[in-house]
Amino acid sequence: MSEHWCAIHEAVFFKKGKMRGYAHPVQDTAGNDVGWCNEDGEPEPIPEEHKAEIAAKASEIAPQELGMWWKELGNRIGDGSLEKDYPKAHVKIRVQYYKKLSEVTGVSFKE
Ligand SMILES: [Zn+2]
Repeated sequence: MSEHWCAIHEAVFFKKGKMRGYAHPVQDTAGNDVGWCNEDGEPEPIPEEHKAEIAAKASEIAPQELGMWWKELGNRIGDGSLEKDYPKAHVKIRVQYYKKLSEVTGVSFKE
């Protein structure tokens, strides 16, 4: 696998705007973006007493950075570089992208 890839979540790391490092948004089971998975982040579970603090930080950077991240993913899909860089995973990532786009816009997209 080339570039910045999270094997745990099968997601692409991007670094955009004011983000401090490469990261990707993490979704809950309902598909809502609930936080960030950082490429350089701690692999160990977050201690209970720090969860609120970390969640607050995640929501702090969420609106703009989250938008940038999804936009970047859309750009990569559009210019074909996603398929080139992630030949195995790009189909799954595309599905995630269009699912997200449908949720946000209420429009059903066909690939
Ligand atoms: Zn991850």
